[in-house]
Amino acid sequence: MNILALNCGSSSVKYQLYDADKNKLLAKGAIERIGFVGTFIIHQTKNQKHRLECECATHKDAIYTVFKFLTDEEFGVITELNQIDAVGHRIVHGGEKFDKSVLVDDKVISEIDSLSTLAPLHNPPNLAGIMAIKSLCPNVPQVAVFDTAFHQTMPATAYLYAIPMKWYEKYGVRKYGFHGTSHLYVTRRAACMLNKDIKDTKFISLHIGNGVSVTAVKGGKSIDTSMGFTPLDGAVMGTRSGSIDPAVVLFMMDKEGFTTEEVNTVLNKRSGVLGITGRYTDRRDISRVAGEGDKLCQLAMDIESYRLKKLIGEYYAVLGGLDAVIFTAGVGENSSIARKMVCDGLEHFGIFLDDEKNENAHSESDISKDESPVKVLMIPTNEEIVIIEDVKAILDGTYHNHDFKYSFEVKNES
Ligand code: ADP
Repeated sequence: MNILALNCGSSSVKYQLYDADKNKLLAKGAIERIGFVGTFIIHQTKNQKHRLECECATHKDAIYTVFKFLTDEEFGVITELNQIDAVGHRIVHGGEKFDKSVLVDDKVISEIDSLSTLAPLHNPPNLAGIMAIKSLCPNVPQVAVFDTAFHQTMPATAYLYAIPMKWYEKYGVRKYGFHGTSHLYVTRRAACMLNKDIKDTKFISLHIGNGVSVTAVKGGKSIDTSMGFTPLDGAVMGTRSGSIDPAVVLFMMDKEGFTTEEVNTVLNKRSGVLGITGRYTDRRDISRVAGEGDKLCQLAMDIESYRLKKLIGEYYAVLGGLDAVIFTAGVGENSSIARKMVCDGLEHFGIFLDDEKNENAHSESDISKDESPVKVLMIPTNEEIVIIEDVKAILDGTYHNHDFKYSFEVKNES
């Protein structure tokens, strides 16, 4: 069974085609700058990688282009479109309606559409992807996999804000949390690495990429997470502020006469480490320039890691114990400096990072000292494999089972 995983953003479509029976990636790629001048596709198969210009005014054009590449004589990995058996979509916001992945039908489409009020930048392009597949290959089953679903297990004490209850009842203002598929993947892998039943585990998972979120996961279920009503809340990010005193927004609107749209742009696109350094979002640049003595870059790294430390403290408190801290995503997987800066000073929590293991971690690994009571794990995330397996399980009818085990939940051989 071939399953296509799609992640449709505002101006991009990322895709991976899997042979789900063999758990084998056949092709992957991305089309960027949809609707702008200079649209291009990066298409990768086992042996080749191509970057080519293309013309795509809409998501439908982009998906049509992806299909052309997948079936192309030279670049392709299948011969006919009917060799794609199902499509799984990453959908950012599932609100309170979706606590797990679902088969897409007209009702699901209208619910995703109505949730666009909560995620105006994300749900519309996600939905455009579903509609494009519906019109290009109407008989192919589609599955929606929600970024928020994993966090629907949070208790009301964690997800409600101390604001008038009417805001929640009338508009759904509450914490939803994001990056759920990633937190699910790495915590299930962590249980395997530690040879524990997921039901007996307590983890803090740090997804540190451009977007950053930290989640407390107890017994395989999210009990609290740092992103909130939107993905702006919580940790310091590449361009997003993370948590600030909400009064700052009102103060700055007053002082600078910002409109809501302007203040939204500043907090989402010009804050975070970019706001502090004034120049960089890429943490590689920031640590390089900090190494050359730049004080603002050093400060950005200090603030980012300080805030992550505080989140670990918060979640340690509510978990009532801790088996492992998990690092994942672009920074979490690749930056030994970032991991060290977060873990340094947390020895009183029983978190002892092993410097040598940390420096040499290039694939899934335990990077804590042998005697460390709390383990520190580096686990490359794999959201696509969760999407693929959800699609497969929904289609073969095994997904409703709450003890559903993913195929990646197997113990490491070493
Ligand atoms: P997104 O949130 O866009 O999915 P990623 O998870 O791909 O982001 O992470 C992107 C971030 O990872 C960028 O800020 C990039 O600088 C950072 N990154 C990648 N490799 C390294 C590295 N070796 N050291 C530090 N940061 C890195």
